Amino acid sequence: MTVTTRFAPSPTGTLHVGNLRTALHNWMFARKQGGRFLLRIDDTDRARSEERHVESIRADLGWLGLVPDGEARQSARFERYEALFAGLVAAGRIYPAYESAEELDLKRKVLLGRGLPPVYDRAALGLGAEDRAKLETEGVRAHWRFKLDHDMPIEWDDMVRGHQRFDPKTMSDPVIRRADGSWLYLFPSVVDDVDMAVTHVVRGEDHVSNTATQLQMFDALGSTPPAFAHEALLVGNEGKLSKRLGSLGVDHFREAGIEPQALIALLARIGTSDPVEPHVDAAPLIHGFDFARFGRAPARFDEAELAQLNARIVHQLGFDAVAARLPDGMTSIAWAAIRPNLATVAEAADWWRVVEGPIDPADLPDEDRAWLVQAAEVAAALDWSADPWHALTNALKETTGRKGKSLFLPLRLALTGRAHGPDMAALLPLIGRDRTLARLRAAA
Ligand code: GLU
Repeated sequence: MTVTTRFAPSPTGTLHVGNLRTALHNWMFARKQGGRFLLRIDDTDRARSEERHVESIRADLGWLGLVPDGEARQSARFERYEALFAGLVAAGRIYPAYESAEELDLKRKVLLGRGLPPVYDRAALGLGAEDRAKLETEGVRAHWRFKLDHDMPIEWDDMVRGHQRFDPKTMSDPVIRRADGSWLYLFPSVVDDVDMAVTHVVRGEDHVSNTATQLQMFDALGSTPPAFAHEALLVGNEGKLSKRLGSLGVDHFREAGIEPQALIALLARIGTSDPVEPHVDAAPLIHGFDFARFGRAPARFDEAELAQLNARIVHQLGFDAVAARLPDGMTSIAWAAIRPNLATVAEAADWWRVVEGPIDPADLPDEDRAWLVQAAEVAAALDWSADPWHALTNALKETTGRKGKSLFLPLRLALTGRAHGPDMAALLPLIGRDRTLARLRAAA
């Protein structure tokens, strides 16, 4: 049996970081097991689903490198749902109900007022054929409920949450189809999971009670249910479910200069007992992926942690991986010199401007300026072919007696216009003799 997972977003908006995490875990688990990772577009809600969102979902997965092994769309499968629905209606496992939203609301309030759980009372099951015909002639259209088997205990061993148990008597028969004929997600999802031979459903813990009802749907369709992993949800740094997290997607991360590897390294590990580490290659993350390592507490997503991780990823990226995003003329030697100072790849352009110039002239005290006149003379006489920075600073140490900060800082300021930056030994050969002399003289 091939392990098969699926990521099943509704194309009613763009993916947020919580969705990306679910997609990633589905992909990682499938890759680890040598299985298949499918993308299923849950577009039963035709009014709210939009093609541009389908496209952005594909693009976002592509950016992360989570390439699905297959794609399905619920809107293309309505006939299939219809056929299985008809069978279950005929078998009495799905039944029509006619209560309006207001009536249902009232029933719930009455039960809650009596301190009882607000479970649907199955009044619709008491309707005879005549009652239904009468309602229909009055223009009341049925919605459809799946009839839970109250005698069948609902239990499963969740890969994250451990043993789960629900008493079907305490649950309402779920509505699976609206009065206008449109589908709610519950039933089509089960049909798809059966038809696509999904072996593992990985999703957020907000779906746990859906799973309880869906397990009986698998059974009603004569299928063995898949295994389930319900992950604790993502929370923001402040420890709460934040609006902000719901709006953070790939566009935001890309604009912030976050590399896909950084997002993967973070989302692969937060919420688990494993440390977050700057893996450029997903292989070790996949290798160590295990639902048993996930905790029940919410996973904490911290943008500052992501930014730090990103810098550590950028410091490892090879020239070929970034060349297309670097300014013209920037060589692999320049990349190697500048890379350790970057928080994002885009910042390389700032340092390349520092190399190429013009730079803002440094405003130095007179004492340093006089000293830079000497520095320029020493620099002019240097052998530039080997290690000009050490040659320059060693010569200046000897001839002027300066050392430490009073030696290095005026040089750095004169040569780069900045007090901090990449290792000068790596930078100076890039700046080169002519620009070095010009900058030292300009600052002097
Ligand atoms: N479309 C559903 C959602 O986004 C899918 C849930 C599932 O994975 O079954 O919540």
